[in-house]
Amino acid sequence: MSTVYPPHTTVEALLADGTTVELRPLGPDDHRAVVRLHTEGMSEESRRLRFFGVSRNAPQQAADRLCGSPRTGLLALGAWAEEELIGEADCELLDEPPETAELALAVADRWHHRGVATLLLEHLVHAARAAEIRFFEADTLFGNRAVHQVFAHLGLPVQRRYTQGEVRIRVPLEESDERYRSAVDERGRRADVASLAALLRPASVAVVGVSRRAGSVGRTVLGKIRRGGFAGEVWAVNPHAREIDGRPAYPSVRALPAVPDLAVLAVPAGAVPAVAEECGAAGVRALVVLTSGLGAEEARGLMWACRRHSMRLVGPNSLGVAQTDPAVWLDAEFGGAFPRRGSAGVAVQSGGVGIALLQRLAWLGIGVSSFVSLGDKYDVSGNDLLQWWEADGHTDLALLHLESFGSPRAFARTARRVTRTIPVLTVDAGRSTAGRRGAASHTAAAATPTVTREALFRQAGITATRSIEELVEAAALLHAQPLPNPRGAVAVVSNAGGIGILAADACVEAGLVLPELPAELGKLLPPGASVRNPVDTTAAVRPTELALFLRALEREEAVDAILVCLVPTALSDTPVQEPVRALLEGPARRRVPIAAVLLDQQVPVRYRTCADGGSLPAYSDTLSAARALAHARDRARWLAEPPPEPAVLPADAPPCDRRVARSVVDGYLTAHPEGGWLDPLSTADLLEAYGLPLTTSVWARDEHMASVSAGGLRRLGHEGKVALKAYWPGQVHKSAAGAVRTGLATDAEVRAVYREFTHRFGAGLAGAVVQPMAAPGVELLVGVVQDQVFGPLIVLGLGGAAADVLADRVARLAPLSERDLSAMITELRSAPLLLGNGGAPPVDLAAVRSVLTRLSRLADDFPELVEADLNPVILRPDGAVCVDARVRLERRPSFDPYLRRLRRPAAAEGE
Ligand code: ADP
Ligand code: MG
Repeated sequence: MSTVYPPHTTVEALLADGTTVELRPLGPDDHRAVVRLHTEGMSEESRRLRFFGVSRNAPQQAADRLCGSPRTGLLALGAWAEEELIGEADCELLDEPPETAELALAVADRWHHRGVATLLLEHLVHAARAAEIRFFEADTLFGNRAVHQVFAHLGLPVQRRYTQGEVRIRVPLEESDERYRSAVDERGRRADVASLAALLRPASVAVVGVSRRAGSVGRTVLGKIRRGGFAGEVWAVNPHAREIDGRPAYPSVRALPAVPDLAVLAVPAGAVPAVAEECGAAGVRALVVLTSGLGAEEARGLMWACRRHSMRLVGPNSLGVAQTDPAVWLDAEFGGAFPRRGSAGVAVQSGGVGIALLQRLAWLGIGVSSFVSLGDKYDVSGNDLLQWWEADGHTDLALLHLESFGSPRAFARTARRVTRTIPVLTVDAGRSTAGRRGAASHTAAAATPTVTREALFRQAGITATRSIEELVEAAALLHAQPLPNPRGAVAVVSNAGGIGILAADACVEAGLVLPELPAELGKLLPPGASVRNPVDTTAAVRPTELALFLRALEREEAVDAILVCLVPTALSDTPVQEPVRALLEGPARRRVPIAAVLLDQQVPVRYRTCADGGSLPAYSDTLSAARALAHARDRARWLAEPPPEPAVLPADAPPCDRRVARSVVDGYLTAHPEGGWLDPLSTADLLEAYGLPLTTSVWARDEHMASVSAGGLRRLGHEGKVALKAYWPGQVHKSAAGAVRTGLATDAEVRAVYREFTHRFGAGLAGAVVQPMAAPGVELLVGVVQDQVFGPLIVLGLGGAAADVLADRVARLAPLSERDLSAMITELRSAPLLLGNGGAPPVDLAAVRSVLTRLSRLADDFPELVEADLNPVILRPDGAVCVDARVRLERRPSFDPYLRRLRRPAAAEGE
């Protein structure tokens, strides 16, 4: 049995109350700690419940069992807080029943009811699953309520068998169980929010590194906290000054009159680790590190102090944090003016972007609930903030600017949930290669390739924009106006025909539609007006006419949104601002969203207050307005769709056999520790284990075998023909090298081709694959690209010879949902070929879905699968068959995005 935790593997994770603990496997060095846990750590009653009696030797025996020399079949994990073992969970494989491990748990009394046991169990479940254990069993005393609670809330099904005084618990460790994942998510969310309270709702703050020099960072932040009217205590720390700004300064954090919840560090890089350690030892719960330019050693020292002392960390290289809740009112940032109180949560990676964003929001009049400049994101990330805003009760708009993702799959999962309640907008930074280079050097984090990002954003329902301006413009609409009907039919109204046409073009280019409007609406407008969408009211329109017309429009069933474009006119009977006044004298809140384009407006977007007190977003440009409407429509569409259901296979379809696949993968990686491309036969074994429809492929080592195999396969082949493909290790593209010969009808042909291969490829030739010819159909490419950070991405495209030329491809992150399957198929430019083109019958779409689903499972289950290329998969009305597959494997650490643990930033990774 393999264990997922090699002896040196340590992870950190949060308890229910937000405390950081360390989890690692127990080893011989932990013997004393285990004895102490079971003696000093536990009362006699706790020991009785744990060991079913009060044997004096029990703690010793437990330590002997857990900390002896490593034994196959035993997994033992310890939870540590400040170097003290506070809990332990272990499981040991039983002889009977099979695939079952006996589970045991112990938590120090002082640490009860904080989720230690649950956290340990989650990690043990993960390790056990990876070790092919399928059941946990445990004997518990009937009166052991704490343990029963833990199992009841775990999220896994629990079977109980009662005997006198005892309960035998059996837990099946099912894979990919959505209920369990949700339970884990929910615990993760609560722990995360609890851990962030010290950061975003601190009762007291210390600024460390406040120089006497006015204008220095520390001094500025201290001044802002004080002037901002922070509700709690605030202290300045400076080893040399006794007084700053007429108030006492303290030489160290230890010397403060009380322990602050939050410390803001503005000390030189070299001092950061020691100050962080001092804060941690004093009991500080969160750090904001403004200092930039930390070296690797300093980064490690900072991280170590934070994890060891259970402090959440923002930064380094942060601009600070702000919280506008009146009960807190914290302005601990040196970005600019204190943000106005409001409901937008803002998190940015780059400080400069943060300043720009806050400024634009302020101009627009959107207030901020909390602001965090994440900086180099060693710990607190966009993911944490999303969860905070989701729970804080007064954020209804989340604005993110991220250049890289710490754990994108976790982010996608969180974002997917949060976007159901509040819109999440982001600037897709680092789209271009040049941008990515900038991002990498800028924040010491490699931004991820954009194809994956787009997939991530789309799948998560995030509104991704291409600039800060576009972000603010979209936010302006989403914040103040209702969402349109998902159909996105826009009525464009203008008092100058040319502008109306431009606006209509902009709408269509943004993917919106312009419905036809009923002709009788024309009666409301002056003669010469046109109600063909775009509506041209003519410059002669009177304010009352425009108002009535808009009112009639919003009632039209065909209209989902209104875009009004007004040019100040100088006709004698319509004074310059009359049409605009007519617009503003109407309501801003209508049945459908309304946006204005005011061509004399100087700023790109601003709110105009309407008669009902509502805000009407007014843009200076038709493109911006159309884009904002399109974002709103996209969000409406996403919300209208039910939450994604994981892609499933029909009940009667052959299942995916994980064990067989595991043995192929392990077999290959044992023989080739450096990884590489699988040979044709192992490829077939692996893909067939997951039910992927590889055509019959027979291996022939020489001409004679090729001839015999071809004889047998010919009757399976289309028109009685076979294909012969030369193979040698390391081969890349067969056709280009002349290694593929199709449509061989006779034995003589097969023999001749084999002889030709021998001549052409010489000693390198390992043999050939013989396949029956597949009947012609649509050739697709189905593949997997594995991103170290993002995880597997499933690609679907036009295959065969056309694949590289046309590059018609779509991609989604695994695991795919049912909706992803449909979207991938319809988004292909070649979709008409699949759906039946020019009278041709459609191909078997269920077969396409099945191939995608199975490949997605394979990629999700095996992180070792770094690349797969099924090209072509030949699609016909009666099914799918793959005639060429290549798979590359690499050793990868087991990676479970659903496991609760804190991220390890690359910058602070040891050695
Ligand atoms: P490579 O992609 O390495 O050049 P393939 O095995 O994909 O080699 O073969 C190239 C092309 O030959 C395929 O795209 C397909 O059109 C055709 N082909 C290969 N094998 C078969 C087969 N068994 N039945 C029908 N067509 C085949
Ligand atoms: Mg091919």
